[in-house]
Amino acid sequence: MKIAIAGAGAMGCRFGVKLQSAGNQVTLIDNWAAHVAAINQQGLTVTTDDGTDHVYHLTAVAPQAVTGEFDLVILFTKAMQMDQMLQDISGILGNHPAVLTLANGIGNVETIERHVPKSQIVVGTTVWSSGMPGPGHIKVTGTGSISLQAVVPTEFADFSGLLTTLNAAGLNASQADNVMAAIWKKAGLNSVLNTYCTLFDCNIGEFGALPNWRTLNDAVLNEFEAVAQAAGVAFSAQDVTDLIAAQFSPETNGGHYPSMHQDMAHQRPTEIDFLNGYVAKLGAQLQVPAPTNAILAQEIHAQEALKGIS
Ligand code: NAD
Repeated sequence: MKIAIAGAGAMGCRFGVKLQSAGNQVTLIDNWAAHVAAINQQGLTVTTDDGTDHVYHLTAVAPQAVTGEFDLVILFTKAMQMDQMLQDISGILGNHPAVLTLANGIGNVETIERHVPKSQIVVGTTVWSSGMPGPGHIKVTGTGSISLQAVVPTEFADFSGLLTTLNAAGLNASQADNVMAAIWKKAGLNSVLNTYCTLFDCNIGEFGALPNWRTLNDAVLNEFEAVAQAAGVAFSAQDVTDLIAAQFSPETNGGHYPSMHQDMAHQRPTEIDFLNGYVAKLGAQLQVPAPTNAILAQEIHAQEALKGIS
């Protein structure tokens, strides 16, 4: 299969290596010029769990330079970079490739729909993970899985073929029963752990040890539940709270600093407008107030402004 990965950061590169190693023809598309140059000149270095480095030779291009026909485009930008990326790669979208995103946040389908017919779009969530210490270099740990669903299952051309391609690459993909519920569940977790750990400059275990973590958690998730209900999406604040509580121990994710914390520390924009900010905005449209989520989004934006992040 000819696969373009648009947004070849930590996750895009991890998926790119797995898909190319399984025999697919992969093109990485990215805006970070130094990263693209490093991949083309020295190859992509992947540091694995045991600390060893492996070099993979993939083709990388800038979005404006990509041409050709692709069977599948995987969007792995951050949520707020997706619209611009889709504009920049419009030249390869005309041949009706399937378009898949597993990016975090709510609202990615709405973004993609502005550029691609609904019948070609697949969305999902993933628990694969990856980090990027520098250009041309990713660091991967553990294994993961993907849960995904076509936006219009009756119109998507070859869903079982897509699953076969992903699973042949060892990506552990399966069909979701209710992908929007899964996306909201992950966003609920991120809107508690990412947001508070960033604001309090703490890791997940330290957040869980706060005597009032439950009050802080419930303020976010009760609004999520009310807005989700008005939007017709299944969401249980209790289920997400249970999932969050399961992350606190050192054996799970207690020592981990969520990605938003890392984005802030490295002076990169956060995905807050697709987490708490999205729920606040949708709540306002649906006349379901979400003031806690609205103010948390503003607090993150204030921290971005103080750090000069735009
Ligand atoms: P990333 O920050 O590694 O990459 C996203 C984009 O930002 C890429 O185009 C990358 O080249 C660019 N970028 C990164 N660092 C840069 C720098 N210093 N200078 C210039 N450009 C830079 O993002 P990611 O971690 O691959 O995440 C992609 C999506 O997947 C997000 O929605 C994220 O929330 C989600 N996700 C990530 C993980 C994870 O473990 N990383 C896990 C699950 C879901």
